Amino acid sequence: MFSKKVYLKRYTFFIDELYLKEVIGCSYFCSNLSNFAVMVKEIQLRVTIQEEKQGSILIKKAAHNLGVDEKEINAIKVLRKSIDARKAQIIFNYKIAVYINEQLPESSNYTFNYKNVSSAKEIHIIGFGPAGMFAALRCIELGYKPVVLERGKNVKDRRRDIRAINQFHTVDEDSNYCFGEGGAGTYSDGKLYTRSLKRGDVRRVFENLVFHGATDQILVDAHPHIGTNKLPKVVQNIRETILKYGGEIHFESRVVDFSIKDNKISSIQLQNNKEMAVESVILATGHSARDIYYLLHRKNINLEAKSFAMGVRVEHPQQIIDSIQYHCKGERNELLPAASYSLVQQVKERGVYSFCMCPGGFIVPAATANGEVVVNGMSPSKRNSYFANSGIVVEINVEKDLQKYNQYGVLKGLEFQKDLEKMAFNAGGKTQAAPAQRLTDFVEGRLSPNLNTSSYQPGLNSAPLHTLLPSLIGGRLRTGFEAFGRKMKGYYTAEANVIGVESRTSSPVKIPRKENLEHPQIDGLFPCGEGGGYAGGIVSAAMDGERCVEAAVKLLKK
Ligand SMILES: Cc1cc2nc3c(=O)[nH]c(=O)nc-3n(C[C@H](O)[C@H](O)[C@H](O)COP(=O)(O)OP(=O)(O)OC[C@H]3O[C@@H](n4cnc5c(N)ncnc54)[C@H](O)[C@@H]3O)c2cc1C
Repeated sequence: MFSKKVYLKRYTFFIDELYLKEVIGCSYFCSNLSNFAVMVKEIQLRVTIQEEKQGSILIKKAAHNLGVDEKEINAIKVLRKSIDARKAQIIFNYKIAVYINEQLPESSNYTFNYKNVSSAKEIHIIGFGPAGMFAALRCIELGYKPVVLERGKNVKDRRRDIRAINQFHTVDEDSNYCFGEGGAGTYSDGKLYTRSLKRGDVRRVFENLVFHGATDQILVDAHPHIGTNKLPKVVQNIRETILKYGGEIHFESRVVDFSIKDNKISSIQLQNNKEMAVESVILATGHSARDIYYLLHRKNINLEAKSFAMGVRVEHPQQIIDSIQYHCKGERNELLPAASYSLVQQVKERGVYSFCMCPGGFIVPAATANGEVVVNGMSPSKRNSYFANSGIVVEINVEKDLQKYNQYGVLKGLEFQKDLEKMAFNAGGKTQAAPAQRLTDFVEGRLSPNLNTSSYQPGLNSAPLHTLLPSLIGGRLRTGFEAFGRKMKGYYTAEANVIGVESRTSSPVKIPRKENLEHPQIDGLFPCGEGGGYAGGIVSAAMDGERCVEAAVKLLKK
């Protein structure tokens, strides 16, 4: 965490702010020269790009704002930083704590009190994505031993299987972009945005990620992002904490069945015929574990169909998005990050919206089985790729829009999703190459004679997505894209590709739970995270993992 770095710089007399920003991320200092009132004040500051370039601008502005001498300011801690690019004059908005004759505290308010749990009571966790990882960490804090069963491999071995998808078009059904250590979160974009602010302590999750090696900049940025290149190390550090304190993690251990006795989960079976007696099980298998939904359905365990969203990924040269968002021609200012966007449009009573926008990123093949093509996006921490991509998806109302799939009951959304992914596989040429069209051709309804270059490694095949996608999605997307072109001048361009299909935005199935977070029919089973329908991203899944363990512990203590 940043406390060590703070200590190193504490007694430095004059430190250039920009240098400090590089070195310690979010803390700025000047010397402690006088003995005025001791206090910490939180203020907001607006800084132009020209001012941002100057050294010590935050101290100067803070001193002016508070009517104190610059020498009285001992330290400044940036609490929040965001960019307002609505007008030509781009502004950095800062929320800062000003330490007037007061030292910056050395450590964070958050502590993680991990205990040795090697001989403690066990809680079994199926799935080691963000929900499973944070469930395991919470077990250790609360004095219980997590026993994690994960179908995929550790991050290092998983990398080889990911390469095989990109280079040889072969998908290992237990080890891919969604399955393996860290779950879909490991090779994700690592954006840490969440709307689930009331569902848990977001800050605690951020602090824990920093504790495990994420940059402390995520504690400050309005749109925090870790980056796909940094996530594997964080995930590995989390694994090491769990093992160090006596937890167990079993890779290549797919759960294939479980037994129930007197309405209570009693054991789980693994693919290698191994059986484990269990008392409390956190089911955190994510939204791509279709075998788990089929298993529950076969066992007549209640599930619910859930509305979700599907569509395509659109990819522009990043420079086009920068020039629109930053009102510039050519390269963006060096102090500005690759620009992002967030778009939404109502079309025929359904929302069409951008999802998981990845500035300076890559499109990746996120299928979990051969015979399907699924695209998703990610970006490295520097967001320095040539491309900007985003899912553009249409809200699917599972009750009204999927009448044709009624025969599948609660699994109708899942079957619809599968059909679309098969369509993309066939249209892409029956490999992991994806079907694609220039954006303008998609909207205007013609096949693209050729495509723009793309970050999608397995390659693209020109295909008539405008006719291949069901009209409930394709028609709305086409209207939506035209509207987006009016909102962002330059967005609607032949220089962009649309690439299919973006189908795994969230789970099409919900696994119900009672108020105490147990499944209504099975005591001791806690549906958790995105697969249960209780999370939509890394942070909400992590918070749900913590909550499920807290709920399990409450019952175990009774
Ligand atoms: C390319 C990509 C980019 C993304 N970018 C972002 C982003 O920027 N920000 C964001 O918030 N979210 C992002 N997401 C989504 C995010 O990763 C998920 O919302 C999150 O990982 C869900 O967490 P989870 O723990 O509920 O499930 P998952 O992460 O899906 O983890 C489930 C785990 O369970 C394991 N499992 C499944 N079945 C079994 C079984 N039968 N037995 C044992 N183990 C099993 C799987 O192998 C997997 O490891 C992205 C996803 C992808 C694929």
